[in-house]
Amino acid sequence: MTKYKLEYIWLDGHEPVQNLRGKTQIKEFAEFPTLEQLPLWGFDGSSTNQAEGRSSDCVLKPVAVYPDPERTNGVLVMCEVMMPDGVTPHVSNKRATVLDDDGAWFGFEQEYFFYKNGRPLGFPEAGYPAPQGPYYTGVGYSNVGDVARKIVEEHLDVCLAAGINHEGINAEVAKGQWEFQIFGKGSRKAADEVWLARYLMLRLTEKYGIDIEWHCKPLGDTDWNGSGMHANFSTTYMREVGGKEYFEDLMAAFESARADHIAVYGPDNHMRLTGKHETQSIHTFSYGIADRGASIRVPHSFVNSGYRGYLEDRRPNSQGNPYEIASQILKTIASVPVEIEQRLAAAE
Ligand code: ADP
Ligand code: MN
Ligand code: MN
Ligand code: MN
Repeated sequence: MTKYKLEYIWLDGHEPVQNLRGKTQIKEFAEFPTLEQLPLWGFDGSSTNQAEGRSSDCVLKPVAVYPDPERTNGVLVMCEVMMPDGVTPHVSNKRATVLDDDGAWFGFEQEYFFYKNGRPLGFPEAGYPAPQGPYYTGVGYSNVGDVARKIVEEHLDVCLAAGINHEGINAEVAKGQWEFQIFGKGSRKAADEVWLARYLMLRLTEKYGIDIEWHCKPLGDTDWNGSGMHANFSTTYMREVGGKEYFEDLMAAFESARADHIAVYGPDNHMRLTGKHETQSIHTFSYGIADRGASIRVPHSFVNSGYRGYLEDRRPNSQGNPYEIASQILKTIASVPVEIEQRLAAAE
């Protein structure tokens, strides 16, 4: 038997943005544990905005398991928060009710800022660094400093070693701002991995004395970029059947559901979706081919393959909850009737 370090990870009850929490328990297993072998556990919900003081127990239900490459015999255990009965999802548990489908694929582009001493990494103590321009995909000390790249590389290695489908990195438009991409098949799987990648980034940067600022417009109404979390999505039908008519119906459904999408696309998004700097106004829905100023960008590849493939919803922000984002996207897609035979014939 081996003693494994199980890190139970969950989302707390803070609003409007849930925080990641985690605590460790040691259990013996003959080999790396499966999900079924991991027991329910509890925590004090009165310290996480999830319960009143008097009956404060909440239950952690393991829902996904990954190796923890930073610990010897470490296990990352993604959990849902349940009521004391162990079966009723807590109100803060958005994962329990998401629409899911293995054929629905999501690629999330998580943007964020490194922060040190209350300002973006690389910003001088007073004032601003040279304006935006050279930082996006930049290289060299004056553009990215001396530690950011070390962190993003280490984060990439840890994610890959954990089996998280990390797909890439780039330095972003503002100084101190970066992005990583996570791709997954199924809403829960993709969103679990975004949350775990966020967790691993927060844990990793502790030792560097650096914080992660996830807010979508940390520098307010300035010429400095905000942070998004573009959600790229496709369903089996979009990839295999698609077609212009279906696409147009889909976009009409997205337009009607605009407010429902904005409601779960992250707080303070009006600060970011201003209609300027490659954003569409939060009040308007638009789509366009290769248009980075649209709500939904339609890649050239989509049009070139007969309106098949994936679309990019550019509105979700860096603090959005990927469970809710993916679920809302699937809800809107599901509202569009699919007359399979008719559409198949049209696509021939
Ligand atoms: P950009 O910065 O130009 O918007 P990125 O390369 O950062 O593009 O992100 C593109 C994202 O699209 C990646 O996360 C990728 O996984 C995702 N993606 C690619 N193909 C599909 C697909 N068929 N379905 C869903 N997402 C996809
Ligand atoms: Mn990107
Ligand atoms: Mn980006
Ligand atoms: Mn993008």
